Amino acid sequence: MPEELIPPAKPIIGEEERAAVDRVLRSGMIAQGPEVAAFETEFAARVTAGRTCVAVNSGTSGLHLGLLAAGIGPGDEVIVPSFTFAATANAVALTGATPVFADIEPAHFCLSPDAVRAAVTERTRAIMPVHLYGHPADVDGLAALASERGLQLFEDAAQAHLATWQGRPVGTFGDVAMFSLYPTKNMTSGEGGMVSVASDELARQVRLLRNQGMERQYANEVVGLNNRMTDVHAAIGRVQLTKVEGWTATRRSNAAFLDAHLEGVAVPPVADGATHVYHQYTIRVDGAERDRIVTALREEHQVGTGVYYPIPNHRLASLTRFAQGLDLPETERAAREVISLPVHPSLTRADLERIVGAVNSTVRAGS
Ligand SMILES: *Cc1c(COP(=O)(O)O)cnc(C)c1O
Repeated sequence: MPEELIPPAKPIIGEEERAAVDRVLRSGMIAQGPEVAAFETEFAARVTAGRTCVAVNSGTSGLHLGLLAAGIGPGDEVIVPSFTFAATANAVALTGATPVFADIEPAHFCLSPDAVRAAVTERTRAIMPVHLYGHPADVDGLAALASERGLQLFEDAAQAHLATWQGRPVGTFGDVAMFSLYPTKNMTSGEGGMVSVASDELARQVRLLRNQGMERQYANEVVGLNNRMTDVHAAIGRVQLTKVEGWTATRRSNAAFLDAHLEGVAVPPVADGATHVYHQYTIRVDGAERDRIVTALREEHQVGTGVYYPIPNHRLASLTRFAQGLDLPETERAAREVISLPVHPSLTRADLERIVGAVNSTVRAGS
């Protein structure tokens, strides 16, 4: 009898989340209200070392409003990685600015400061690294470049709640940073995003933009959107927030087990001074073997995996117009070689042993 599939991700929703939703529904106040305000304060305390946070209805909205709040718009260039989810560049493009793609560091898959330096032009206004898979980008290198060239720094921390760089949490380095609360992320509110901001003025602008430009009802100050989080979602997020530290510790110990037992593949390195929170545990294999390995893991071993991301942003039909003649060799190589293995906190010891056995025998079979 085939074993049960080990899924590549598994949101954990328990009795407390259900009770919190029920409490909000019974209150009759469903839209943005006191739960959202409490969630913002609690998230800031636990994730961003107290830096002000503003909740929105998705991570993508968070990126978009953060850029708008910081004044990014038509004629501006924002340097982003191509090896990420399309939301990063989409948010830039939706402001009317131009996403400019730069290559990554092969070790940890995040934006390379040298590549960014080479991509700066007189129109560059900002750099937006992604802390991909839960590993921090080289924020020191990028922040130094940003201050040298007078650029703003934004962080796409969608995958990196509680990751740190030189002891400091990601989401506290940039002028604006965004955390996603989508179900497969390290914690969820159903859908949602949290924006961490470096100043009261940015906080005010993001709050205005998420609410049709209104601080006072019907006194609209700027042209805005409805990107508000509901109290129902905030109530789920508040419960998850009390658990994300424990889940992160489990992700890290799962990753340590995989590091110690996988053979014949490149396990994910961690930069000096970085803590990785393993949103994904991403290995590299021979690119010519990747499809065979993914298929064999699923069909012969019932181990689900993911390929994040098979097509780099600069080659997506939606974004190629921003990438004429661009050559990003490390991005292309990563897109051919990566496989993300299950690392989520619901895995048992038996699951981890099955993953290791399956990967080791599948990789060996090809050599
Ligand atoms: C998930 C994700 C986003 C978008 O977040 P949503 O909450 O799904 O809108 C943006 N960037 C990266 C790197 C992501 O992984």
